[in-house]
Amino acid sequence: MVRVIMLSPPGAGKGTHSKWLTLHTGAAHISAGDLLRAEVARGSDLGRQVAAYTDRGDLVPDELIFRILAPAVVAAARSTGGYVLDGFPRTMPQALRAAQFGADLALTSNAVIYLTAPEEELVSRLLDRAQRDGRADDTLAVIRHRLAVFASETAPLVDYYRSRGILLELSTDRAEADVQADLLHWLEARGLMQHAAGQSSPDQAE
Ligand code: AMP
Repeated sequence: MVRVIMLSPPGAGKGTHSKWLTLHTGAAHISAGDLLRAEVARGSDLGRQVAAYTDRGDLVPDELIFRILAPAVVAAARSTGGYVLDGFPRTMPQALRAAQFGADLALTSNAVIYLTAPEEELVSRLLDRAQRDGRADDTLAVIRHRLAVFASETAPLVDYYRSRGILLELSTDRAEADVQADLLHWLEARGLMQHAAGQSSPDQAE
């Protein structure tokens, strides 16, 4: 079963590709951003603490992230045997702690998908999404800040996972179906999923 980390700057398509991959594999989709936004929407104390970071495009402190995510990952992995982690880990301390946590619970990730697109394409996609979804952090200034945070905090994870031999880098600056085909082919070649012969292509998510 796939236990995948989707690693990508904002706007590169980790939500979109996580969704169809989840449908295709039966692994649970765990979106860090969605869980955080749900906590904010609940209006809890924790949600108010979270919003102070997410509204500015800053990363939420690791302690809060683990408090919110760990139970979701354990429950999802128990029920489906796998996961598609969308938006976590995002810092080296998170990656190291997640690796320890995974080893302790036999839930170690077996693939990391690093999605890329040119920066101006990322900005333009996020501004389009702002028109559709009205997310508080999809304003131009906050988008630029989130991209800078990705470059300083999250980009180092690319080399970390590449050196572990489990990273696939994919450009999403092309048709979604081509990205899906490359990703499925890679997972099949690594024995992480069965060849889906005769299966119709997954719905285009998002
Ligand atoms: P996303 O929906 O993945 O774009 O995440 C939205 C926001 O949630 C980010 O800009 C961060 O403020 C926060 N966030 C999501 N995942 C994490 C994480 N793993 N660590 C810290 N903050 C996060």
